[in-house]
Amino acid sequence: MKFENSIQFAKSLDDADCLRKFRTEFIIPTVGGVEQIYFLGNSLGLQPKRTPLYIMQILDQWGHHGVEGFFRGEQPWLNYHDQLVQPLAKIVGALPQEIVVMNQLTVNLHLLLISFYQPSKKRNKIICESKAFPSDQYMLETHIKQRGLDPEDVLIQIKPREGEVLLCEDDIIAAMGQHKNELALVLWGGVNYYTGQVFNMQKITEAGHKAGAKVGFDLAHAAGNIRLQLHDWDVDFASWCSYKYLNSGPGAIAGAYINERYHTDKKLQRFAGWWGHKKEKRFLMKPGFDPIPSAEGWQLSTPSPVLYAAHKAALDIFEKAGGLEKLRQKSILLTGYLEYLIHEINSKHGEELFFIITPSDPNIRGCQLSIVCKRNGKAIFNYLAENGVIGDWREPDVIRLSPVPLYNSFKDVYGAAMCLDESLAVSE
Ligand SMILES: *Cc1c(COP(=O)(O)O)cnc(C)c1O
Repeated sequence: MKFENSIQFAKSLDDADCLRKFRTEFIIPTVGGVEQIYFLGNSLGLQPKRTPLYIMQILDQWGHHGVEGFFRGEQPWLNYHDQLVQPLAKIVGALPQEIVVMNQLTVNLHLLLISFYQPSKKRNKIICESKAFPSDQYMLETHIKQRGLDPEDVLIQIKPREGEVLLCEDDIIAAMGQHKNELALVLWGGVNYYTGQVFNMQKITEAGHKAGAKVGFDLAHAAGNIRLQLHDWDVDFASWCSYKYLNSGPGAIAGAYINERYHTDKKLQRFAGWWGHKKEKRFLMKPGFDPIPSAEGWQLSTPSPVLYAAHKAALDIFEKAGGLEKLRQKSILLTGYLEYLIHEINSKHGEELFFIITPSDPNIRGCQLSIVCKRNGKAIFNYLAENGVIGDWREPDVIRLSPVPLYNSFKDVYGAAMCLDESLAVSE
């Protein structure tokens, strides 16, 4: 599409946007009655207006039925999980039985590594991205130590090439080939949180399998943002949090995917709890763990129906919006328009004041643009925040802005770009 730098043009894109009504499903944060331009759905998605209603239903059921709420009322808690699996299966491209909603992301990664990282003397290396999200780094470091191994020996961290910010996919593939006799696991991010780079998960999975390793993904920044086909790509396992693009609230219950070929694999280790035990026998309280023959067999503890409800409220909106296909189409335009307007600011000033490190190819990025400020980054960021444009700051000089197709408009994008331009005069 040929973009134009005017508010009329932004409005015309909003008029043509078949998803625009979904903004009214969300509570847009305000300051002094003025709606903020919230470009932080990559950090904490906005609250759906229906969330409190769904949660109230759980509380009502608890009030009316006590523990019988597991079995009674409109939404018995015991089967509530079934309602989450279908929409999530569509969002991440999996079979419903390959999805489990449980715990939180970092916890799930530890649990999944128990199953999918089985180091032997010869084969114990893990390939991951250098400068992965800190929680993933801490998870790997401590998990490896717990196995009696040294993270320094085990971890092969792939870095961008000298002078570059994005990772070159060929380098990841080459490393897998190079370590093919000692590689146990590839654990990668679907979308890098810092640069917004999307990785070719199919290619990474193929190469990882060829090298004899298991392949898993952290989809924190990918779930609800980009198209995923975990099953068709033959990914072994994955996990994601639900509070970013999935809008299910702070500390939301997370999700995991486990390829169906492992569901009844007795050789796989796992940590178990009664919630993963065969449902028909769960309450018999007999010894001997007999797992549910699906991803649900990886559950440990009684889940919170309150968190389920907040998750369902958000997933119902994804369903109403017709799934990820339409959202992606709008997302490509929204983020593309922001990129175009930032280039306009640079050309107006005859200088690359804002350098976008996120890939310019829409196929290898999602909503987010990571913008390096040439000068006065912190002052620019503060100006945005004071003037109702909510992004976030990553030291030393990066502003991350993520227009989200479910609730952001083209007018938001135009407003944010205007504010960026104004910030230059003020921050000099
Ligand atoms: C947001 C994020 C996390 C957060 O993990 P929690 O366990 O949900 O706190 C972990 N990894 C990545 C890559 C993230 O982007």
